[in-house]
Amino acid sequence: MAARPRSRLVLHPLTPTESHPVIQYEGTLYRPPSEANSLILQATIGCSYNRCTFCAMYREKRFRVRPMDELAAEIESVVRSGAAAEVTKVFLADGDALVAKARFLDELLGRLNAAFPNLRRISCYASPQSLQVRGPDELIQLRKAGLTQLYLGVESGSDAVLKSLDKGVDAKEMIRVAAKATAAGMKLSTMVLLGAGGRAGSHEHALESAMVINAIQPRFASVLVMTPVEGTPLMESAERGEVDELSPIELAQELRTFLAATELRGTIFRSNHASNYLALKGTLPKDRDALVQILDRVLANPRKAPFIPDSLRAL
Ligand code: SF4
Repeated sequence: MAARPRSRLVLHPLTPTESHPVIQYEGTLYRPPSEANSLILQATIGCSYNRCTFCAMYREKRFRVRPMDELAAEIESVVRSGAAAEVTKVFLADGDALVAKARFLDELLGRLNAAFPNLRRISCYASPQSLQVRGPDELIQLRKAGLTQLYLGVESGSDAVLKSLDKGVDAKEMIRVAAKATAAGMKLSTMVLLGAGGRAGSHEHALESAMVINAIQPRFASVLVMTPVEGTPLMESAERGEVDELSPIELAQELRTFLAATELRGTIFRSNHASNYLALKGTLPKDRDALVQILDRVLANPRKAPFIPDSLRAL
């Protein structure tokens, strides 16, 4: 996973009253763009892995699983507030809630289903490490209990890049753990980190990332732009002059190479994360050639390209 924008919360900590839900949030909250209208519950705090060189999201947090009675009280407070019928999507924060014990997650999902009659989707981030520890039967049980979508930071299909990011798995293992989730009937939303291979490795990073995404066949695929953030090993490397930050045009070339190499059978593609310079969307394979043509036009005439200025990008 890579840095995402701060959450716009649906429910905020408020003075405890019968009519106001009380949700406790610790530290900065992150969620995928598509969870903007979800109720966010911090089932876990931080990230159990917390080592990826580019990721600053949970560095200040000590990983732990929240006590069930606290979460139950928060769910109950939403019900008491009269807002239960409005909750259609729940996102379980923080960085890898899937790593919590399956029995704990199963109980939490049961409470959410019981509390919210119009609940359509429960989702969370899944680090590769959390997918390593969840068995196939556990994933099936969790999907049946309502956890139907996982966000997986693939970042790259290049083993060299994954190693440099300290992702903790190689491409083969990334594909294996993703297949476990798919086999359990869960929808995967994957993220690839543009620029993570640097200038010299850009082409290989793009091609190998496409190969891994092709192998995973996720329901959703998005790209983000790798950006050194304060407090990360990546920033330390950048300050030593060891990181090539690709220009918008180089990133467009990398994205073109990536998209042209995709062979997907029904994946919704987005570059709508705030770190991107170009906001594209489409369904692959249907829109693949059109997206490639857009990028070809950008590459042919960069001065007229609709790049989002740095001032409007949230890094
Ligand atoms: S697994 Fe995800 S949340 Fe955890 S450190 Fe890596 S990118 Fe950040």
